[in-house]
Amino acid sequence: MQISFHGAAQTVTGSQHLIRVGGKSLLLDCGLYQGKRDEARIRNRDFAFDASGVDAVVLSHAHIDHSGNIPNLVKQGFRGKIICTTATADLCGAMLLDSGHIQEEDVEYVNRQRRKHGERPVLPIYTRKDAAEALQYFEGIEYERRYPLWPGVTCTLYDAGHMLGSAIVGLDFSSGKGDPARRLVFTGDLGRPHVPLLCDPTLLETADILLIESTYGSRTHPPIEGSAEALKETIRRTSKRGGKVIIPAFAVERTQLLVYLLNKLYNQGELPDIPIYVDSPLAVNVTDIFRRHTAYFDAGTQDYLRGDPDRDIFGFKRLKYIRDVEQSKQLHSLQSPCVIISASGMAEAGRVQHHLKNNIEDHRNTVLIVGWQAPNTLGRRLVERTPMVRIFGMEYHLEAEVVTLNGFSNHADQPGLLSWAQAFKQPPARTFVVHGDPEAAQELATRLRHDLGFQEVMIPALHQTVEI
Ligand SMILES: [Zn+2]
Ligand SMILES: [Zn+2]
Repeated sequence: MQISFHGAAQTVTGSQHLIRVGGKSLLLDCGLYQGKRDEARIRNRDFAFDASGVDAVVLSHAHIDHSGNIPNLVKQGFRGKIICTTATADLCGAMLLDSGHIQEEDVEYVNRQRRKHGERPVLPIYTRKDAAEALQYFEGIEYERRYPLWPGVTCTLYDAGHMLGSAIVGLDFSSGKGDPARRLVFTGDLGRPHVPLLCDPTLLETADILLIESTYGSRTHPPIEGSAEALKETIRRTSKRGGKVIIPAFAVERTQLLVYLLNKLYNQGELPDIPIYVDSPLAVNVTDIFRRHTAYFDAGTQDYLRGDPDRDIFGFKRLKYIRDVEQSKQLHSLQSPCVIISASGMAEAGRVQHHLKNNIEDHRNTVLIVGWQAPNTLGRRLVERTPMVRIFGMEYHLEAEVVTLNGFSNHADQPGLLSWAQAFKQPPARTFVVHGDPEAAQELATRLRHDLGFQEVMIPALHQTVEI
């Protein structure tokens, strides 16, 4: 068996691992590499392998850094099945179309710049149409059902507790052609226990080969309860001084988590009587998908849903979803206190940029940051309280309060990763630490060796192939 690490190797983005066994090829995830625009375009455009030679894709979850290059894989000749949970398949329906749209828009911008310099235009990596085409290859399955990929290989998905439909992938290979029977486990992205909405990550007992993520391999998260409390206090404080709360949030998962928490606070009478807007067409579509997949929620959320006055944990009297651009623009002229949740999560694109531009110069307002902000993003500049920030080419004084809540992460931290890995009855014979920056991956690898006695732990380099 050969494993080649074609993405999320010593970095957190672009998850793609190719397994070759018994003359067949299986791709674990087909993510987009996200980074500087030009570098990302070149890395995502060409695969390091022949797309038409891949027999199947097993997809851990719908996040774009895991699923986002599937339309390009199909465009380049892949015709196999894409196996994932039914919720992941549904989410990809919305997210890949949105991603195709972003690719098209991005290239329009790049080509305007290139024309100015007399350079030839470039083509989008894929279009909305390519994304729609790719959706026909998805096959959704349920958790913990053994699915035969082809003779000698079965695939089982387990709840990873990271986002709706997220899976840990178990692959069982029967013996043949000099290969022994063995089990490979790929964590995808691993969630945290006790997070609202999601079930805890499933503990597994056996793995001969383990691919484990390490996003927070060197960190410990603050508990989520403190952040939920701070969310309430921030809204109360801001509303009391007549201000608005602007929350840049990823349209998928983070927005639904916030709405669920706000729904609870509203039912308990803990929120001031002000309107709350979710202003993102993708978030609206994705919330509908969440509503269709309540069976994936954890027991606590299911209980809550049964007792919710309108049987909808993503809807309450003061909450309004906004899809239409004109309605979004009307929010700009609002004078009274409100909460606006809008994408993108790092404020690099999307409608939230308009809300920030209109509101950060007023000291009564608050920008509430609820997720990790990459360096060089508008979100990061707000977290760092840069006095002047640039939005749409204009400079704005940052006068608003900025609150950062770090407790909403949906990735396991170092103690979480270790306690999950400790559940194996025996350490895996080989472990590969992926999906983490070098320092995080290194620290997790050290802990796995020292604390858990894992013997062969390796941090593969990009495009490295390992024979097992
Ligand atoms: Zn993820
Ligand atoms: Zn990821």
